[in-house]
Amino acid sequence: MTSPRLARLERVRAAMSSAGVDCLLLSLGADLPWLTGYTAMPLERLTMLVLPADADATLVIARLEAPRVAEDPSAFTVLGWDETEDPVEIVARLVGTRRHLAISDRAWATFLLQLQSQVPDAQLRAASTVTGPLRAVKDASEVSALAAASSAADRVATALVEGDISLVGRSEAEVSDDIGRRLVAEGHQRVNFAIVGSGPNSASPHHDATSRVIGPGEAVVCDFGGTLDGYCSDITRTVFTGDPPDEFRALYSVLQEAQAAAVAAASVGTPCERVDGVARDIIAGAGYGQYFIHRTGHGIGLEEHEDPYIVGGNGQPLVPGHAFSVEPGIYLPGRYGARIEDIVVATDEGPRALNRVDHALAVVEV
Ligand code: ZN
Ligand code: ZN
Ligand code: ZN
Repeated sequence: MTSPRLARLERVRAAMSSAGVDCLLLSLGADLPWLTGYTAMPLERLTMLVLPADADATLVIARLEAPRVAEDPSAFTVLGWDETEDPVEIVARLVGTRRHLAISDRAWATFLLQLQSQVPDAQLRAASTVTGPLRAVKDASEVSALAAASSAADRVATALVEGDISLVGRSEAEVSDDIGRRLVAEGHQRVNFAIVGSGPNSASPHHDATSRVIGPGEAVVCDFGGTLDGYCSDITRTVFTGDPPDEFRALYSVLQEAQAAAVAAASVGTPCERVDGVARDIIAGAGYGQYFIHRTGHGIGLEEHEDPYIVGGNGQPLVPGHAFSVEPGIYLPGRYGARIEDIVVATDEGPRALNRVDHALAVVEV
């Protein structure tokens, strides 16, 4: 049986040949750990996997970093370079006579420029043109990893909606830190973000938690996620401190209906933009169209945001293994806002939500 990584390598080589790419050069970013299990540190020293379509792959890495790599000879070998060597020259030598190259979207420009001067007739393109559509389709091991990260985030979100994370009288920043600590306590190795927007700040979708103290009678949007064994979680729940006004209840019930309908629409074969359209039509139909100011969702995996994007203009149909967020929001500037977000995987049996925390408006005692 082939390992998931070897299967990925085979898919990459096939995609390279159909894209006319004869060598892939992977440095910073998620493509490298996806194929090798190794994440390059963002250093001035070059780390680069040289993956020719027609030959074995080599990981070029500073000798002092090499002990951190778990070499997998069936997939790639490690070539350590010494401090006095020019790693770009080593990469150019491994590239050989190949000229159709694809390089990591996030490789440092300095190495790209050096490579261009050493291989002046190379035709370069972004590696994501090859890897993006492949990485968007998760294999079984990746879906399990995403499910584990989502379950860990769910345990924190459950504490939030049940009122076990105190809000009133604490600053947004304190609550954000609390959520972050809980994400780690539930198994995440890293916290990626913990947005806490209270009162008027709840109307700012990417609000940064501030020293603002949360009061009674406020909407509080909490959007948080981290990385667990390499894969990301991302969940949003909105709670209200005390009895919400009827107008907020009305807004929230429209949002809840839109989010549920978009999840239900996310079946295999449905274009990404249709999932966005389902949420948008319901929100616009209730008169809030101008207050839903962002796309409905983004793919998720090794990165928090990756293909496929659930946005108008993306006609790509969902396929089994696509994993993405469904997170419509309604934001009334200066007043309040709300968002509900779950991670969903498209499967042949229908959309599978990885987050299971209740969607009903959470009213916490003050
Ligand atoms: Zn966001
Ligand atoms: Zn989020
Ligand atoms: Zn998200």
